Amino acid sequence: MKILACDGISPEGIAVLKDAGHDVDEMRPTPEELLQIIGAYDGLMVRSKTKVTAAVIEKGINLKAIGRAGVGVDNVDLKAASGRRISVVNAPTGATISVAELTFAHMLALARRLNVADSSMREGRWLKKDLKGTELYGKVLGLIGVGRIGKAVAERARIFGMDVIAYDPFLNEEQIAACFACKVDIDDVLGRADFISLHLPLTAETKNIIGERELKRMKRTAYLINCSRGGLVDEAALARALRDGTIAGTGLDTYAEEPPKGEVLEMPNSVMTPHIGASTVEGQARAGAICAEQLLKALSGERPDHQANRF
Ligand code: NAD
Repeated sequence: MKILACDGISPEGIAVLKDAGHDVDEMRPTPEELLQIIGAYDGLMVRSKTKVTAAVIEKGINLKAIGRAGVGVDNVDLKAASGRRISVVNAPTGATISVAELTFAHMLALARRLNVADSSMREGRWLKKDLKGTELYGKVLGLIGVGRIGKAVAERARIFGMDVIAYDPFLNEEQIAACFACKVDIDDVLGRADFISLHLPLTAETKNIIGERELKRMKRTAYLINCSRGGLVDEAALARALRDGTIAGTGLDTYAEEPPKGEVLEMPNSVMTPHIGASTVEGQARAGAICAEQLLKALSGERPDHQANRF
C-alpha cells in the first residue's frame, strides 16, 4: 500500500512501515498540496503540524487509516474519519518515560532553584549563600491521576526516597499500590504533599481541578507541577497564589492557551517549559514506531490497540 508520512515521522516509524513492504513517501506538504496528493494514499501518518481536516479526509478517496505519532488527536477530524470508516490510531504510550522525566526536571529545578541560579549567574551575580534549596528525599509527592505517566513518576519518586500518595477515583487501593503509591482522597493530597503533580486528562469534570480553593489547601512550602494538560489549573488563581505566597512555586509544561500570554508569564517562583513533555529523541522514536505498528494493524483489518475513533 502507499503511505504518506508527514511532519518528520521518526526513522524508526518509517522503518516499521517499509519493513512491512509498504511504499512510504516522506513529505511536509502545505495544506493545499496535501489536498491535491492525498487521493493517491491508503494510509497517512502525521505528528501535530499537519491538520487532517474533513476536506483532506473527503479527498482521501483511498484512505483506510490515519496515524497520529503522539497522544492528542485534536489535529484529526475524528467525526469525518468515522463517517468514512477510516481508523484513527495514535501512540499514547510513546512519551510516558519522557514526561515522567520532565516532571522530575521541574521538581528538581524548583527544589534547587535552578531558574534563579542560572539567571543570576548570567547577570554576574554569585548567590551561593542565598540559594539554599531542599532535597526531594523524605518529601511527600502527591499525584492526581496515576495512569501510565503517574505510575512512572511514582516509581522514580520511590528511588528518590519520596513518600508517594495519590488520588485517582477510577483506581482502587490495590491498583494504586501497584503503581507504587498509597491511595488517598484529593484533600489529603492537597494538605499533605510537598510536591503535587498532575497526570490526568482534561475533561469537563477535570477542568480547573486545581483552583483557588485547592491552592489554599496546599502547604505554603509546596510546589505544583503540571506536565499534563493546560486547563487543569486555573491559571489566574495560580498566579495570585504565587504572588501572595499561598504556595511556594510551580513548574508548568502545559497551559490553558498555548503559547500562554499575560499574567502566566509574570508568575514568580515558576519554571516554565513550552509543552516539551514528549519532545525527546527516544520518545519520538518510540511514538513513531508504536503509531506505525498501529497503522499496520488498521490497514490489515486487524483491531488496533490504540484507536481514537469509533464507527
Ligand atoms: P492515562 O490515561 O494512562 O492516565 C490518566 C489517569 O488519570 C487515569 O488513571 C485516570 O483514572 C485518571 N483520572 C481521570 N480522571 C481523574 C480525576 N478526575 N481525578 C484524578 N485522576 C483522574 O494517561 P497518561 O498517559 O498517564 O497521561 C496523563 C496526562 O499526560 C494526559 O493528560 C496526557 O494528555 C498528558 N500528556 C502530556 C504530555 C506533554 O507533552 N506534557 C505528553 C503526553 C501526555
